[in-house]
This record gives sequence, structure tokens and C-alpha cells, in this order.
Amino acid sequence: MNVPGPRVRIFDTSLRDGEQSPGFTMSSAQKITFAHALADLGVDVIEAGFPNSSPADFRAVQTIAREVRATTIAALARCHPGDIEACARALDGAASPRIHAFISTSPLHRRFKLNMSREQVIEHAHRGVTLARTHVDDVEFSAEDAFRTEREFLVEVFNVAVAAGATTLNVPDTVGYATPDEIRALFQYLRANVKDADGVVFSAHCHNDLGLAVANSLAAIEGGARQVECTINGIGERAGNAALEELVMALKVRGGWFGVETGIDTPKLLETSRLLSRITGNQVQRNKAIVGLNAFAHESGIHQHGMLKNRDTYEIMHPRDVGWPDSQLVLGRHSGRAAVVNRLRALGFVLDDAKLDQLIADAKALTHTQHVVSDADLLRLVTGNPDDAGWRIDSMSLIDEGQHTRAHVALSNPDNHTVKRDAQGDGPIAALFAALAKATGVDFELESYEVHSMGTGRDARGEANLSARIGGESFSGQGTSRDVLEASAIAWLDVANRLLRSHAMQRIPAFA
Ligand SMILES: [Zn+2]
Repeated sequence: MNVPGPRVRIFDTSLRDGEQSPGFTMSSAQKITFAHALADLGVDVIEAGFPNSSPADFRAVQTIAREVRATTIAALARCHPGDIEACARALDGAASPRIHAFISTSPLHRRFKLNMSREQVIEHAHRGVTLARTHVDDVEFSAEDAFRTEREFLVEVFNVAVAAGATTLNVPDTVGYATPDEIRALFQYLRANVKDADGVVFSAHCHNDLGLAVANSLAAIEGGARQVECTINGIGERAGNAALEELVMALKVRGGWFGVETGIDTPKLLETSRLLSRITGNQVQRNKAIVGLNAFAHESGIHQHGMLKNRDTYEIMHPRDVGWPDSQLVLGRHSGRAAVVNRLRALGFVLDDAKLDQLIADAKALTHTQHVVSDADLLRLVTGNPDDAGWRIDSMSLIDEGQHTRAHVALSNPDNHTVKRDAQGDGPIAALFAALAKATGVDFELESYEVHSMGTGRDARGEANLSARIGGESFSGQGTSRDVLEASAIAWLDVANRLLRSHAMQRIPAFA
């Protein structure tokens, strides 16, 4: 048994394992868009779907196979002739097709899911891989629930699959039960005991039920796996799969430890993550590693001070390496003087101590009414632009019109005049935002929109957070109210007011 080479293949299953989980359904057009993004990112294999599961899935795999030429396109099949034939048809004409055939091997699955003996499982695996090889040269075989399968039986099944022509052997921890030490040992055992182990690629497919999917995938690589199955944002069945962006950055940042490499173009990680969020409507949590809004934000004063002297103090990778423009120094309640001075310098201002003290006091006062102080806010404070009140909400109402909802809003404009408008939308939020856009004359596409409830019973409040990206700058707004719709309207106006202020700023000549 030789030590496997340093190249780890990234097998992305966002479009199969990810897409099949509740809340992550994608249309065929969205799948095709995302497959192109995965190819640009540099993944080695895209698992495009399960062709025999539905005609729509079949067509999506077929289109991806025809359009995405630089990446291996895999399609999933049970070890049934019907599934395998459907894969072969869907992949017909692909530049680099792979059939991924699987069967459950664990005692629990054999008994309760398949009602098959060990011998029957082996027979099915043999027939499935043999048939797949009549269609394509690249066949991956998966032993579903491999981690809970008797080790010697797993070797037996894999030997049969290799003899039938499988070129990749996938070892899933289907239920997310393993620990890193166990996974590492299992891969070492399989590489030592499966015949011709050096001639095939071992693959890990880890689920995140205990939050260990990435750690287990890394341990599998240490044990000799050279393919990892993962998804953008870690989407997938139940708690999801290993998150591609975390796995890839762990291998990169700790390259000296792992001694392996991937083909991923890491500065595209963020945009790929954002694209998936937009397509599926599921934002990642703010504190998500690599791609969360806070992943490179430093709010506490002590951290900011260190960061400004030498970014290595609190950063192990450069934000640009994963696609962020730069670390954001969010000027919140805990920000220190050094952060403010630095931000101002970046904006072209150097203030004397007295002016700086005043500015810091003003900036802190602002954090009582808004979460973060943006560059636009700082500019407004430093150039002494009178604090206009911006647009405020006086009243709002929503009427259900059957197919549609109509929203009426009454707003006070910055000159304290009342503006009333109404608009129709598919639902209350769409109608409300449309009415606000009409009334203010400001319109933007939302980048994210989240509503949380805080507290319980009579004290319950809704908090809405939304962000929009306009002209390369990100504007976020926040609103709190007893009513989530009102909270959403306040948050929307917060963004609109920030946008208007920033535009107003750009017209002030003194500031150039
Ligand atoms: Zn899975």
C-alpha cells in the first residue's frame, strides 16, 4: 500500500444531497445556473441529481451534462437496472460522465430497509457496478451507512465492486454518527484490506448530525481518502453534509499539516455561497465560518486594535482569499478609538484629539439607535451634515385581496410632509416593500432578509434585519416592533435612509 498522492478531489453534492432536503428545492434552471458556478469554482465532480427520481431531475442532469464540459458530472443510481439506465441516458453526451451506484450495507439497513441477506447485497452491488461499467468508464460505488457496517463485510463488498470495475469507493457516514479517530482508522483499515486499494480512489461522505462532518472528512483524508463529498454552505439531508468552503479552507490554511491540495479557486467561495443562498432563499448564519457576515468582522475594541497593528493577531486567513473585499471593522458599541481613527483615515480624514473625542461620542450615541455605524454614517458625522430624520413610518395596513395583498403606507418624509401610497404584491412583505418603494422613490434588491422573534408572551418583539448591495456597497437595516411586518418596514426604511444619506454625502463638495 502506497501513500496516496496529494491531490484531494472535491465532489460537490449540493444539487443532489443538498437539493433533496426540505427547504432547499431548486428549479431546473436554478440547478443549471448553480452547476456552472460550481464548475467555475473548480470542483472536480458535480453530482447533478438522481435521474430516475423524477422527469424534472432527469432533464436537469441531462442539461448540466451537456452544458458543463470541464467538470465530471455524476448521476446517482440505486443498484437497479432502471436507475442505472436512466443515469446512462441522462449523461449521454457528457464530456466526463460518472455513474454513482449505491446500496446499503449495514445490518440495520439490510434488515429493515432492503430486507436482503449479505449475499443478496453483494449480488446487487456486483450487478449494478457491472451494468454501469457497460455505459461509462468512471463508476463510483457507495456502501450506504458504511460506517455502521461490519468492517470485514464492507471489505468484501468493496472487493466485489472493484472487481466489477468501480474506480471510486465511497464510504458514507450516512447518519453522522462517527468521530474523527474512528473515521481515520476505518479508512486506514480499508486501504490496507481492500484488494487493489492503490488502484481506486477512496471517498468520504460525512453528515453533520453531531457537527462533525468537516472534522470527520479531514480525518478521512488523513486516513487516505482522496475524494470528499461536500456541499456549499453545508446543505444536505437533516443537519447537512460537510461544508465545502470550510473543508477547502482548512486544507489550505493548514496545508502544512495535511499536506494535500484541492483545485478550488478559493476567492470564488463567497460568491458561490451567496448564489446558493439567493437560489434557495436560505441565508447562512452570521457567524458561519468562511462565508458568514461576521466571519471576518471584528467588533470588540481590543480585537480591532490588534488587527490594525497586524492582522495576523486575529486573522488566520486573508478575507480576500475567500472572496471578501476586506475585513469589515464594524463600528458597534464595543469599538475602540483606534478603529475609528483608522476608518476615518481610510475615508481621508485626520482629526485633532478634541474633534476626534466629539466624533467618537457622536458615533457611540448613534449605536443606541442602530446596530452598526457604517462609513456613510461616519462621513455624515465628520462633515457636520445636519442629521436629517429620514423617512419615518406613520401608519400602515394590509388588505388580503385573495390572490394578492395590498399594502397602504403613510410616511413622513425628511421635510416632515406626509406621503401616502399603496401597492399590490404576492404576499404581505412584497406588497409592503413595493408600497415603501413607491412612497420614497427608492428601490433596491434585497441581499438578505431575516426576521427573528425576541422574548415571549406580552413582551414578544420581532426584529427584522435586511441588507441590500447597491453600487458595490452593502447597506443593512434593522427594525424592531411588536409586529414583524412593522419591524420589516422599519428595517426597509433604515436601508433606504442610509442609501439616501450616502447619496446626499456624495454631492457635498467639501468632502472631496
Ligand atoms: Zn448523504
